[in-house]
Amino acid sequence: MHLRLTDEQKMVQETIRKFVEKELIPLENEVLRNEREGKPSLSKEKLKELQLKAKKAGFWGINTPAEYGGADIGQMMLAIVQIEVSKTFVPFQFGGIADNILYYGNEEQKKQYLIPTINGDKKSCFAMTEPGAGSDTRGITTTAVKDGNEWVINGEKTFITGGNEADFVMVMAVTDKEKHQRTGTDGVTCFIVDREMGWKSEYIHTMGEWGPAGLVFDNVRVPEENILGEVDGGYQLGLEWIGFARWVVGATAVGAAERLLQMAIDYSKERETFGRPIADRQAIQWQIADSAVEIEAAKWLVLNATFTLDQGEDNRHLASMAKLYGANMGNNVVDRVLQIHGGMGYTRELPIERWYREARLWRIYDGTDEIQRLIISRNLLKGHVKVGQFI
Ligand SMILES: Cc1cc2nc3c(=O)[nH]c(=O)nc-3n(C[C@H](O)[C@H](O)[C@H](O)COP(=O)(O)OP(=O)(O)OC[C@H]3O[C@@H](n4cnc5c(N)ncnc54)[C@H](O)[C@@H]3O)c2cc1C
Repeated sequence: MHLRLTDEQKMVQETIRKFVEKELIPLENEVLRNEREGKPSLSKEKLKELQLKAKKAGFWGINTPAEYGGADIGQMMLAIVQIEVSKTFVPFQFGGIADNILYYGNEEQKKQYLIPTINGDKKSCFAMTEPGAGSDTRGITTTAVKDGNEWVINGEKTFITGGNEADFVMVMAVTDKEKHQRTGTDGVTCFIVDREMGWKSEYIHTMGEWGPAGLVFDNVRVPEENILGEVDGGYQLGLEWIGFARWVVGATAVGAAERLLQMAIDYSKERETFGRPIADRQAIQWQIADSAVEIEAAKWLVLNATFTLDQGEDNRHLASMAKLYGANMGNNVVDRVLQIHGGMGYTRELPIERWYREARLWRIYDGTDEIQRLIISRNLLKGHVKVGQFI
């Protein structure tokens, strides 16, 4: 066992760190200004320009298989990259990537959806949640009924990330009601549905700086060729999509918390009260110490979850732990950092209040705190995972 990055891994980390410092952090004031004025945080043109700069530095399709022109750096390196880019709130994403489940498409689907998504010509979204079914995905009621060579979809989805901008949605619909009610998982199919086929989206305002969408399917007709994977077998695809998102939340929280903690350390040395820097006070020191310990613990959970996946092992238990602990750690740290900054922390001059609002989402989407606890305890109680199994 070797608990340090290799020279090559360190080089990747360092390159991304420099990219974030040189290209993204200088945009933060502009992003805050745009958001205060109700404008998009970052224009499409600016995002494209940044993606091309990242591409020049070798960062294109970082988790995309080499046969599709990607770098395929592996899940643990991806986590390290995610930690680095999360040290800024500038909403940057690398180009050349696509949802993991799109790789299950047949050749025609890959040509029509996967490749254009990797190339940045099409945008996707994934729709499982409904107004009546969030944590309990078994309660979804959107239906798809076969009519000749087409399927007719009816229903409503909610809180869909990217649903306002997407060119197509990968939507989960019940195709066999009896099977679905009996098993809770089977009888659901994943359809790739172009916006032109007729679904509508509506922006949902949130406490964060971006909003997901509500999607409405009213007799939307979808050709049979647009089924992703097997008829009645869509649930597994849903689990795979969500499974990836889980450790990503933990990594995002680690990156943000490291940046925030550094802000608190710097500020506490500068800010004087009663004739001394606040860093001299034990009340501040303990907040710094607790934050540092929690960040380190969350980072190891994320690295273990992704390392395990790279070994080809089942990492779902560890991914739930990384998500649960990481999301809560992020919320604790941003709260302490805001407190250390006093009134300034509460203003929109600094990004802390923005991160404070964003961090609250980490405990909700891709499986709430309660659902992660349910998964972790169920695995242990049923003996699927043994205490101390992984190291
Ligand atoms: C900004 C945002 C983006 C999102 N993006 C997407 C997306 O792209 N695609 C998508 O499909 N979904 C998306 N979601 C949906 C998200 O995954 C759900 O909101 C989440 O899973 C919780 O479901 P719910 O909101 O229906 O809460 P509910 O399931 O109604 O839960 C309400 C409360 O009860 C608790 N609870 C539920 N069941 C139990 C239980 N058995 N034991 C104990 N407590 C329980 C929950 O933890 C929660 O605290 C997004 C949500 C948000 C807010």
